[in-house]
Amino acid sequence: MKLLADLHVHSRASLDGRSSVEALIETARTRGLSAITVSDHDLCTPLPDCKDLFLIPGVEITSANGHILGLFLDAPIDFAALGKFPPPAQAIAAIHASGGLAVLAHPFAPHKLAPEEIARLGFDAIETANARAMLKPGANEKARLLSQELSLPGTGGSDAHCAKELGGCVTEFSCEPSPAALKEALKAGAAAPSRSAPANGSGRDCPKSAASKAAARFCRAARRFAILPRASRAMCFTYKGELPCPL
Ligand SMILES: [Zn+2]
Ligand SMILES: [Zn+2]
Repeated sequence: MKLLADLHVHSRASLDGRSSVEALIETARTRGLSAITVSDHDLCTPLPDCKDLFLIPGVEITSANGHILGLFLDAPIDFAALGKFPPPAQAIAAIHASGGLAVLAHPFAPHKLAPEEIARLGFDAIETANARAMLKPGANEKARLLSQELSLPGTGGSDAHCAKELGGCVTEFSCEPSPAALKEALKAGAAAPSRSAPANGSGRDCPKSAASKAAARFCRAARRFAILPRASRAMCFTYKGELPCPL
């Protein structure tokens, strides 16, 4: 049975997310999705019961070297033990301890891990189709080549920060309709990441919050007058969309 899953979605439990889980569910139904992962930044959002859509418990951990997705978690991550900005190896170990699959998120948009490190760290998969990364030329293609080089399965997800962006990229499965079967298919490399129909989100379609607009104005002014230290300027360059997560 063919199933479409969006394996990277933020709810408004994320600081930069805009939609409730209920709104995400409503939109996922209208876009023909069978499953979505709720992968909020550094927290495991409790999910409601949902009969006609698989809600896959997930997380997106901000490691010291970039974002790491945890998919199909059996239990919440122990963030008290993990701490803030953990080394990638610890983030991956925490995801595995919670029964999840560790996925390198949007590797080239941006990430701070060399391919040799990625190979060594024990990722279960690499996100090779990220709708927001589509805005960075070649990022998804480079991720796809990396996944081939390392013989790791690929995943696809919108990285939606509001319901409108859902389904911008998806993962196609051919398996029994159950979370356990989806997880096994992903592990086995039998799932195919792909870009969805253009009618779905294209990457950055969320309305900007007042805080985000103010931050963008601040960053523009900071760039124009070069008044900020280098680190802050880099942050402004990177975080020109919704704060605080660029992707
Ligand atoms: Zn994300
Ligand atoms: Zn991210």
